[in-house]
Amino acid sequence: MKYDVVIIGAGPAGLSASIYALRANLSVLVVEKESFGGKLPKTYQIDNYPGLANIKGMELADNFVNQAKDLGAQIIVGEVEKIENKVVYLSDGTNYDARAIIIATGTKEKTLALPNSEKYVGRGISYCAVCDGFFYRNKPVVIIGGGNSALEEALFLASIVEKITIIIRRDEFRADKSLVQKVLENPKIEVIYKHLPESLAIEDDKIVGLNIKNVETGEISTVPCKGIFPYIGANPETNFISKDLLNENGYLLVNENMETKVPGIYGAGDCIEKDLRQIVTACNDGAIAANNAIKYLKNN
Ligand code: NAP
Repeated sequence: MKYDVVIIGAGPAGLSASIYALRANLSVLVVEKESFGGKLPKTYQIDNYPGLANIKGMELADNFVNQAKDLGAQIIVGEVEKIENKVVYLSDGTNYDARAIIIATGTKEKTLALPNSEKYVGRGISYCAVCDGFFYRNKPVVIIGGGNSALEEALFLASIVEKITIIIRRDEFRADKSLVQKVLENPKIEVIYKHLPESLAIEDDKIVGLNIKNVETGEISTVPCKGIFPYIGANPETNFISKDLLNENGYLLVNENMETKVPGIYGAGDCIEKDLRQIVTACNDGAIAANNAIKYLKNN
């Protein structure tokens, strides 16, 4: 099958790109490996998307997907294994010819690297507060990390759990000031600064706490909890892309037109090298990538 544009990733960047490309009458295929809407369905509430204050992540995801579908987007589930000569190869053996390609694969959460931590994912360790928060109703939980994701999810969990302890490794948060203020004002949330997770506290094969280490003194203490939510950052989903298109951290290199080094291949959203990773900037990137793909296809 041949499409004018194959878009890899159905988050805000990919879906914005699809909306612009479809409105230019191009044929568009969107390939998504995991979640339509990207990280939106995993986010309880979004407070900084202009024009839609306090919208639920799931609702915004539905809006994006429905707008793209209403315009005729074909969105399929599949994992891209490689791109070669504008052919997109999926792990299920199918492949799609593209005249232009937009890579909008986003990032994947970093996982906790503690002894046995993999074993307890889904049994006390969760990377999705919106999906799993209810299992910890009226129980104490720990959140690791001080970025926007950690603090947004802490505020969400505060309405469900008994108590939240946030562990951060520095003496200040990385998150936006407005989130920090809300967290510090929340009576259910305690913050422990300058500590790193050290090991899981386990009894009868269940998590009963997190052992943490003071980064200055090395002293170990235990925070009792039933659930642990690590939000310690993310890595770009760019494994299938040729290394010469990436920076040293794996982010896709693009210019201000969202063009990669390969003519007709564009990048957009959290997977590209940039400063500000937000829904609104992902949409911006997607629109610019699609607009330049449209121009490229007029001449090629
Ligand atoms: P992030 O901003 O990279 O924050 C990661 C946090 O985890 C930091 O506090 C970091 O500490 C800490 N950390 C990293 N590795 C650690 C480790 N091994 N052990 C303990 N702590 C560790 O990640 P994020 O919150 O997932 O956000 C990713 C991007 O998406 C950011 O650009 C963010 O702004 C954006 N985002 C935006 C919104 C929004 O605007 N509403 C929501 C979610 C995400 P240090 O600070 O010391 O490095």
